[in-house]
Amino acid sequence: MKFSIWDKGDEESRALSARFHEQAARYGLESDDEQPDIVVSIGGDGTMLQAFHRFRHLLRSVSFVGVHTGRLGFYADWRKDELVELVRMIAEARPNIVQYPLVQAEYESGGERFVQLALNEFTLKSAEGTLVAELRINGEPFEMFRGDGLVISTPSGSTAYNKSVGGAVIHPSLEAMQIAEIASINNRVYRTLGSSIVLPKHHYCDVQTEKPIDLWMDHLLLRLDDTRTIRFHVAEEKISFARYRPFPFWNRVRESFIT
Ligand code: NAP
Repeated sequence: MKFSIWDKGDEESRALSARFHEQAARYGLESDDEQPDIVVSIGGDGTMLQAFHRFRHLLRSVSFVGVHTGRLGFYADWRKDELVELVRMIAEARPNIVQYPLVQAEYESGGERFVQLALNEFTLKSAEGTLVAELRINGEPFEMFRGDGLVISTPSGSTAYNKSVGGAVIHPSLEAMQIAEIASINNRVYRTLGSSIVLPKHHYCDVQTEKPIDLWMDHLLLRLDDTRTIRFHVAEEKISFARYRPFPFWNRVRESFIT
């Protein structure tokens, strides 16, 4: 079993990473940052986003597990004081592999075609003032949006930015993507639905604009100067999480937002 650690970069996470390596050596686990079987993220949900983008090209073969150094995360369920136990589980137990859907964005820029994946969401904002964009669903005109932006999230990302802008929380077993508005302007010219919408896997949405776009892919910013249309849909690829014990989604929602 080959592992790679992706830590948050602060002192505490780096110390935990060193401890993980120490324990892993005892169990004969091999460290491999190029072709790992398992990626251990140490930090928080934001750290898991970074780990996802670092190992995105290995999605078909790699699984992820998260250790949190602060509050319980949506992607990071192991506590720092359970690190030794986690190493033992990785070495000796057979995990349950749980797969979560991702959102795919496709666009052209500089004459090249790009295909990007997000674990939480894509957020579209204008690089110059308010975002003015036409939304088309499955090739049909849907609405003319004017406002601060649009958040196009995965089910597991529904508890992040999407929730802050009033979107619904969606269970990650549903293969869907959600489009939520950020501060839309509604008048006679620009009229939007005003609530978020959830699209199934076989649907797609095109966003067309006339101006440069800031496309946020999770925590990463892509400035698209010449792109005029971006297509979003649920990706064929999924992220795999290695579960060594149950981690019920609704418990995480309750513990993060209610209790
Ligand atoms: P950040 O601004 O440093 O932190 C964003 C916060 O969101 C952190 O507390 C992070 O948890 C939490 N988070 C990340 N993924 C989550 C998820 N799936 N469910 C619930 N909470 C989640 O940025 P970052 O750490 O690089 O994360 C980038 C993410 O920030 C974006 O993907 C977007 O979802 C989110 N964001 C939210 C808003 C907003 O709510 N108004 C605005 C911009 C971006 P940890 O502390 O455990 O890392």
